[in-house]
Amino acid sequence: MRTALYPGSFDPVSLGHIDLIKRAARIFDKVMVGVAQNLHKKPLFSNEERLAMLKEAVKGLERVEVVAFDGLVVDFARKHGIRVLIRGLRMISDFEYEFQMTLTNRRFAEDIETIFLMPSEQYSFLSSTLLKESAALGADISMFVPKCVEDKLKERLAR
Ligand code: ADP
Repeated sequence: MRTALYPGSFDPVSLGHIDLIKRAARIFDKVMVGVAQNLHKKPLFSNEERLAMLKEAVKGLERVEVVAFDGLVVDFARKHGIRVLIRGLRMISDFEYEFQMTLTNRRFAEDIETIFLMPSEQYSFLSSTLLKESAALGADISMFVPKCVEDKLKERLAR
């Protein structure tokens, strides 16, 4: 059985992330979506909130499982016998960071490959950071996020 791990901070999950998860689920027998717990950047949503939103957002998607992970991505992958990581490429600006991270991961774990997927063009400019900024300024972001995320963002920003 071929399993892929899609790691990220998902703060919060967007329809761009979901687009990628669906694409990966068409290629692999199982997609584990890994929600990073030890973020160096301070997230808007807690570990539990980011996890709960993702679980809600992928409800009904077959072969997709959401898990929390701590520490190095490659260590987590190895522990679960996973040899493939999924990452997303939106614009050229993603390339440098993703390139650096992939080659670093490869030095840590030569047996683990990273595969890049591109989202539908309607999400190719979308980032969680921009979503949070737009929502804070009162923009309607319903076309970019699952309903549970829209509600949660509204609730958080209303405080
Ligand atoms: P990280 O902090 O690990 O970059 P993110 O949640 O921001 O976590 O992103 C996880 C992965 O999903 C990254 O590879 C990123 O490029 C990708 N990604 C983020 N937003 C989108 C999007 N709108 N469409 C496709 N991929 C995306």
